[in-house]
Amino acid sequence: MKLQAVVTDKPVDNVHLYDSLLDYFPWIKNWRINVSSGLTYVLGELFNDIEEILGKAPDIKFLRIVEEPYSDEMFMRELYVFIEPDVRNAANSAALAFAISKAKQNSKQLCFKCGCRLKHFREIDEQQVEMFLEKFSSSESHSQFMHFCVSCMTKEYGAFDEKDSENY
Ligand SMILES: [Zn+2]
Repeated sequence: MKLQAVVTDKPVDNVHLYDSLLDYFPWIKNWRINVSSGLTYVLGELFNDIEEILGKAPDIKFLRIVEEPYSDEMFMRELYVFIEPDVRNAANSAALAFAISKAKQNSKQLCFKCGCRLKHFREIDEQQVEMFLEKFSSSESHSQFMHFCVSCMTKEYGAFDEKDSENY
């Protein structure tokens, strides 16, 4: 059962993400935001940017945001943002593209499940990471995983030793 919880592709706690963002950005109502709650903050920043670009109650024809798993990361999801404003022009298109790419970059820093900042594998005890992956990863190629959520790993596995940042 624990394994399924780790490998599922569905957004985690999507209702929570949607509800908390809807309070601040009522215009997202009726659009699909299939994203896990760990990325709530990233989407909040993106929606702020969209309001700066298109106005406080932006007129949009279409909005859909989804996340996809990375084959080589366990705690990271890639954001895909599809948005069509009612009035599109070169300037607002460029500004939206920039805001979307910033959100994608930011999403790579955070665990999609809990929103904690991801750690590079060099920041954590290698042996403990190996033992965790053997137990919880379904991937054959789990040695490629580079980024880890110590908070989620601790929930599944027990305490982890983090290295001093001076040591790497
Ligand atoms: Zn996490």
